[in-house]
Amino acid sequence: MAQPVFTPRVFSGIKPSGGLTLGNYLGAIKRFVDMQGSDFETIYCVVDMHAVTVWQDPADLRHATREVAAGYLAAGIDPEKSILFNQARVSAHAELGWLFNCVARVGWMNRMTQFKDKAGENAEGVSLGLYAYPSLMAADILLYHATHVPVGEDQKQHVELTRDIANKFNHDYKTDFFPQTEPVIEGPAMRVMNLRDGTKKMSKSGESDMERINMTDDADTIAKKFKKAKSDAEPLPETLEGLTDRPEARNLVNIYAALSDMTNAQVIAEYAGAGWGRFKPALADLAVEKLAPVSGEMARLMADPAEIDRLMARGAERANEIAQPILAKTFDIMGFVR
Ligand code: ATP
Ligand code: MG
Repeated sequence: MAQPVFTPRVFSGIKPSGGLTLGNYLGAIKRFVDMQGSDFETIYCVVDMHAVTVWQDPADLRHATREVAAGYLAAGIDPEKSILFNQARVSAHAELGWLFNCVARVGWMNRMTQFKDKAGENAEGVSLGLYAYPSLMAADILLYHATHVPVGEDQKQHVELTRDIANKFNHDYKTDFFPQTEPVIEGPAMRVMNLRDGTKKMSKSGESDMERINMTDDADTIAKKFKKAKSDAEPLPETLEGLTDRPEARNLVNIYAALSDMTNAQVIAEYAGAGWGRFKPALADLAVEKLAPVSGEMARLMADPAEIDRLMARGAERANEIAQPILAKTFDIMGFVR
């Protein structure tokens, strides 16, 4: 049987579970902007329904939802070229999410490393939503028949689960309705690490503010956080191999490379033998140079939340136009009488 041809389409999302970090910027938003206007239709979402898998104060959720949208816009997502919206406005996400809860297997969910990390010692006390969230994420992606999903490294396993869900659905219902989505994980900063512990990912919901750079941090704060960032006693090595077993050093080099659009090897060539007293201030200056225009624009946009809401509502209408026929066909394939 000839495989159907799917429109090249990108979907990705960010949770409004706190303020945006440098990890979100380098691992996600900056790359979303790069894919816009290429050969893809691009759909970017503020995935608010994922945020409530852990407790969110309602006022904070409203604020963070608008702030993530402002981050997208300030970094260069054009609401004409891309579809930009928040998930709760398109109810088809929740509907397809339920259907996929009935496709995904408990054994698959048990293998999700991010659940283990997030639940920690308290696996019995976390929400059922936190456990099921990868299946809602599969719905987010497959609701648009997205062919490509740019994400950071930490989301690779969830995109693979999305492929498993699409496969099982297609197999069980003898169809080729859902595509095999490709994760797009490339570049030097696919896993920006926590500044105080080079073995942990930088996260917006992490405990200490000193472990992350926020998109809204001012120049002094950025300089202070890099100055206090954990490093080691050695200067930067002469070759890339010299970064093996030096997680903190490698992380700071990765961040420099991603911010400057250089390769790690180019950064090492430029700073070979440099001590932290030279490299850290250079990194802080570079981060301020790149982030200040974005955070300035975010602040400007946040002064008019009604305009952000208007843009997201318009994006949701466009998202719905793609989502509704795909959801309806899914119901149909499964045999629902509607
Ligand atoms: P939370 O702590 O609430 O999970 P988060 O910072 O991990 O927040 P998400 O909303 O879960 O952010 O992820 C949004 C996108 O940012 C995803 O594509 C994810 O892979 C990417 N991302 C998150 N953290 C990093 C990081 N440290 N390095 C690179 N990419 C990241
Ligand atoms: Mg996360």
